Amino acid sequence: MAAERLRQLSLAHGDLRLPAFLPVATLGVVRAVDSRDLERAGVEGLVMNTFHLMQRPGSSTIRVLGGLHRMTGWNGPIVTDSGGFQAYSLISENPRNGRITDNGVVFRHPGGRRFQLTPEKSVQLQLAYGADVVICLDDCTHPDAPQEVQEAAVRRTVAWAKRCRDELERGLAHREGRRRPLLFGVIQGGASLELRRRCAESLLELGFDGYGYGGWPLDAEGRLLREVIEYTRELVPRTLPMHALGIGHPANVVACARMGYDLFDSAMPTRDARHARLYALSASSSSGEWLRFVYAGDARHVKVEAPVDTGCDCACCERYSLGYLHHLFKLGDPLFPRLATIHNLRTMTRLTAMLREELDGG
Ligand SMILES: [Zn+2]
Repeated sequence: MAAERLRQLSLAHGDLRLPAFLPVATLGVVRAVDSRDLERAGVEGLVMNTFHLMQRPGSSTIRVLGGLHRMTGWNGPIVTDSGGFQAYSLISENPRNGRITDNGVVFRHPGGRRFQLTPEKSVQLQLAYGADVVICLDDCTHPDAPQEVQEAAVRRTVAWAKRCRDELERGLAHREGRRRPLLFGVIQGGASLELRRRCAESLLELGFDGYGYGGWPLDAEGRLLREVIEYTRELVPRTLPMHALGIGHPANVVACARMGYDLFDSAMPTRDARHARLYALSASSSSGEWLRFVYAGDARHVKVEAPVDTGCDCACCERYSLGYLHHLFKLGDPLFPRLATIHNLRTMTRLTAMLREELDGG
């Protein structure tokens, strides 16, 4: 396995060492931290959100501000998601928020504004943003959705992927000199191995630079859909990168990296940080307890002089005690979310570094 795994993804704004965890900067910011904080935490790439950015600050503003890289001061790779997952989330929350047709997705904003996202528009936006990896618009499902819903989603996802590919070629024909972004197709099919296989085969036939595992990745009890996720990885050659979309719990990142997934993104580590759930890695995983959660708001941490994680080299752990963090949290000082976010992200980049070593047999 070690011999054939993809170790690096070379992109227009730099290389990603694989596996890589990409924090989510939904609206062009990883909340509470700036681009320099991210670099210092070892972050190599970010995921930004096409659907949210088209509403705020809006695509014309992003264009005037020089594209996502210049606007956010982030010089590394940016993966933009297609908006498919947000469509799924909003519409499953309340069907009145919008609808999905063969032509694309229509959303109704609470304020009354309507947004339409077609496969073509999703690609045009991602190209205009200057993304390093463009993701095809997909029709996302929950694994518990009925078979006919899953079948329709696969059919639509494949049709949309072809339209996205054609639109990317059209868009690139007009720009010269800039390095082309990669285009990823997303594999849907819910919990059905047969549908996952059908979707993967159709997308492989169309030919993409990489692939994503799409759809809600957990079952009704919140457990990772291991069998389906592992099977889906096996459908795609190891020489092609595969993104486990939305997967970011440290334990799930470890499990999926061992299955051969290369890229991960999730808002979980940064959201956990802001809610004072901090991660600590144990030096050895022999006890099975390699990950601990440190709840910085707990009263028992008031007088803890040690950092959150003695093995961590982040800007938070190098200088500040857990007791001081607890104090900042209780004060509600904005320094708390910044330090906590830096720490959890550094934990994720340390974790992926350990995984790289393990997968190379080190
Ligand atoms: Zn730390």
